[in-house]
Amino acid sequence: MPLPSSPRPAGLPDRIRHWIGSAPADSAGGAVFDVADPVSNAPYAVVAAGGPADVDRAVAAAKAAFPAWSGLGNRERATVLTRVADAVEAREDRLAELESFDSGLPIAQARGQARRAAENFRYFADVIVALGEESYRVGDQQINYVVRTPAGVAGLITPWNTPFMLESWKLAPALAAGCTLVLKPAEWTPLSAGLWPEIFTEAGVPAGVVNIVHGIGEVAGQALVDHPDVPLLSFTGSTDTGRHIMRCSADGLKALSMELGGKSPVVVFADADLDAALDSVVFGVFSLNGERCTAGSRVLVERPVYDEFTRRLAERADRVRVGPPADPSTEVGALVHPEHYARVMDYVDIGRREAKLVAGGERPGHLPEGNYLRPTVFADVPRDARIFQEEIFGPVVAAAPFDGEAEAVELANATRYGLAAYVWTSDLRRGHRIAAAVASGMVWINSHNVRDLRTPFGGVKDSGLGREGGAHSIDFFSESKIVHVMLGEARTPRFGA
Ligand code: NAD
Repeated sequence: MPLPSSPRPAGLPDRIRHWIGSAPADSAGGAVFDVADPVSNAPYAVVAAGGPADVDRAVAAAKAAFPAWSGLGNRERATVLTRVADAVEAREDRLAELESFDSGLPIAQARGQARRAAENFRYFADVIVALGEESYRVGDQQINYVVRTPAGVAGLITPWNTPFMLESWKLAPALAAGCTLVLKPAEWTPLSAGLWPEIFTEAGVPAGVVNIVHGIGEVAGQALVDHPDVPLLSFTGSTDTGRHIMRCSADGLKALSMELGGKSPVVVFADADLDAALDSVVFGVFSLNGERCTAGSRVLVERPVYDEFTRRLAERADRVRVGPPADPSTEVGALVHPEHYARVMDYVDIGRREAKLVAGGERPGHLPEGNYLRPTVFADVPRDARIFQEEIFGPVVAAAPFDGEAEAVELANATRYGLAAYVWTSDLRRGHRIAAAVASGMVWINSHNVRDLRTPFGGVKDSGLGREGGAHSIDFFSESKIVHVMLGEARTPRFGA
């Protein structure tokens, strides 16, 4: 029986199926796997466990739909995308409810993610309409122009954190660019993806343009990666899986977009607005349960304010409201899965041996069941500590002191990751210097991670390859071809005349 703290949403499906050629489908062999919510950890549904035969069918459907969808004009596709945005928006409450139930995200934050999913479709509809054409004159007699064509059947593979929003972040540009696609959602959080079929149907997306195959990564995901008719793969997930997919994609020379893990530093200088920095640190690492690729999970503080800042950080962490995901006042909900919870708890044990625990580190007393962890702060964390180096992906932050700018940069760059970085200082020139010196794809100065969707999102080093956002995403889902044309009389250098 579900616990009273995890009311099951009304109308919860007990079976989640693939969607192939715009029809619900079971797996070829009928295989299924269980999915549970992170509060009761009791199965609530079975999910179709896709394999190579299902991926084959889905790719064939996407291939059949490609000529018509890729042949539409940008404006026509944009109109469909806008209708998708409307259909997502109309389901905001339902999406928030299902996502929160399935992934453990606090309902208020899940609602924000549903809104962002709608915004992604509206935004890429605008991008594709505004997209300019390139042409270049060569001398006065010739012109080169660039033709952008959809790249083909795209494979989209997504993780369990903010699953619906991250799916939308790939679906929208792939569709805008004119690709047809197969989506493989994360196996721990398949529930919200179950709403895509009705959303796409309502929006009038033609049959076969979007196909969804559920399943275990090593089976369904792998089949998509290996499929010869899928020339491009957009992946968001862990660095190890990303690396594996890259190896598997070498023979097929597949185009890859890799959004991977992070261990992002927040650098707080003594001259910063410390109240604002503290708000940002607490929000940046504990929102979305800390299951966020851009979480500021390493807090580096200039020594003169280090003791005070970490003391206040610990106090704030203690006050963060951990509770049932469905409670509107909850700030940190339940971690996604018992396996992930055990992994995060292992890191807490490791951290106890490596550094000083100053907040959290245990299950909240009032929540005896479910994957709950009190927001956890470790202080005086050495740079070679595992909790300083490795992505924990939970509500756990490692703090360490630094002396001066040079050491701040050295510590910020001392991991294999390079996704995001945050700098707090009242000296803007210093902010720019740090931004230039930090090896990361994104830097925020005196800000938490807000950004315009046109900007490139992505990381360096082990955090990924390529960028998503605006024209960067459209580029990934397109092929470009140049055409040279002679306007005047043809004048070719004459050989052998
Ligand atoms: P994961 O790598 O375990 O799984 C991601 C997806 O890959 C899932 O759908 C999974 O089924 C699939 N998969 C697993 N093995 C596969 C294989 N052999 N072939 C094809 N697909 C396979 O990652 P996760 O635990 O679901 O997600 C958490 C990770 O994602 C964290 O490291 C986080 O930082 C990262 N992430 C990065 C970003 C970003 O934008 N950089 C955003 C969100 C999450």
